[in-house]
Amino acid sequence: MFGNLDTTPELLKQYEFKTGEKHKYLGDYYSLTVNETPETGVSIAQNRIILNVNDSRSLKHKEFVLDMWYREQARDIFVDALAQAIVKAAPYNLNVPDLKIYRLDSRWGACSPKYKRIILNLELIKTPKECIEYIALHEMLHFTYPNHNLSFYGALGNLMSDWKEREDLLNRKYRLT
Ligand SMILES: [Zn+2]
Repeated sequence: MFGNLDTTPELLKQYEFKTGEKHKYLGDYYSLTVNETPETGVSIAQNRIILNVNDSRSLKHKEFVLDMWYREQARDIFVDALAQAIVKAAPYNLNVPDLKIYRLDSRWGACSPKYKRIILNLELIKTPKECIEYIALHEMLHFTYPNHNLSFYGALGNLMSDWKEREDLLNRKYRLT
């Protein structure tokens, strides 16, 4: 499933939301199956994403239903990743932040110490969990070290020795634009 990953930047893709089209979720490709049903919803079965929609001819409707599902999954998985980061970074006594999930086109995340807020890019839900965990930890550490200075990278390296490989994977295979 992972073999021939298409590395076209995700935000430059023009999806048609047709059966057979490939869509990413947590770093893997899934083949879309579109059904016309009274109730909308999305489910995953093996290597397929089943997209149930009211109107299978409306691109906007299909895009919306799939997008809402991505947002639901992102909320669960990102909250988990932030909780893991808090445990990993226990010596820093980090608190649970206010999490916002936005679709950003130039960065994976952001941290606002002033508002105790972490912003994570919705597009992360299409990348492997190890990448989501890395970005969650990276952004959480900005509460302690707001800048990318030596202390920041020292702490990051101590808590996640392979962070660079995770970052490279994001930049190589999951570019946004
Ligand atoms: Zn940073």
